[in-house]
Amino acid sequence: MIKIDALRTGELKPAEQGEVHEHLRTCRSCDESLGDVERLARAVKALAPAVPRSLRESNAIADGLDRVTETQPAVWVAFSDRGIRMIHPSGPEEEFRTRYARRHGRSLTRRSLPKTLRDQVVAALAGGGTARPAVDFGEIGKLEEEVLKALLRVPHGEVRSYSWLAQEIGRPKAVRAVANVVARNFVPFLVPCHRIVPAQGGVGRYGFGGDAKRALLAREGVDVERLERLAREQIRFIGSRTTRVACVPTCRDARRIRDKNRVVFHGVREAVKGGFRPCRRCRPFAA
Ligand SMILES: [Zn+2]
Ligand SMILES: [Zn+2]
Repeated sequence: MIKIDALRTGELKPAEQGEVHEHLRTCRSCDESLGDVERLARAVKALAPAVPRSLRESNAIADGLDRVTETQPAVWVAFSDRGIRMIHPSGPEEEFRTRYARRHGRSLTRRSLPKTLRDQVVAALAGGGTARPAVDFGEIGKLEEEVLKALLRVPHGEVRSYSWLAQEIGRPKAVRAVANVVARNFVPFLVPCHRIVPAQGGVGRYGFGGDAKRALLAREGVDVERLERLAREQIRFIGSRTTRVACVPTCRDARRIRDKNRVVFHGVREAVKGGFRPCRRCRPFAA
């Protein structure tokens, strides 16, 4: 049963998948229980909006909902006494409430967002960034928590790739899974998913459109055109001949390298072969 559920959620290694599939072909009771597991998973998903995630949460008062209009775009903000729980550009209030209920299993009451939280939202959307955003993730999965916390480590005014993020949480092969978590970020702007871009160029997908992402990055001081130029030339890292340190192109340290000392790399192997070690600040690749 455990392996059957793991098969459904794609957690089995290919060899194990083969074994389980082979077993299912010949074992009627397991084949039926796979069907049961799938039905159960669907049923639980369907119930999710109505069921509070935990007693602790259901005992608390409803979370707050406010609309911040001094930003471009205006946004809905949901918050608890521990911090901001969800942000979304304005659309209908009902849509936001539904999205919130689905995510947190809780309802919202209109009240005003505390000033410290409001200031963080305004700064983040204005491109000022917020080093230590007051975010309340609530109860989230381990992968999601790792990814969101790693996103918080991408400095203001810099960008990283999806593979950097996967490497940062110690799962270098889970790039697709990591990208999916980034796309589901419920606290955009504050948890800077806009600072993750595809290594092959462009700004990549963004819930609020590529133009919004480009604008936000530009407001943070990222030279998006330069990034695209580097991507076209397939330049992944920039090093300094004097320090023998390699960086991601937007690392603050890389931007300080003088032209005559600058050397570019198209991949990890090239950098390592050249005797370069990864910058400790931007961690472009594993040491
Ligand atoms: Zn069986
Ligand atoms: Zn660096």
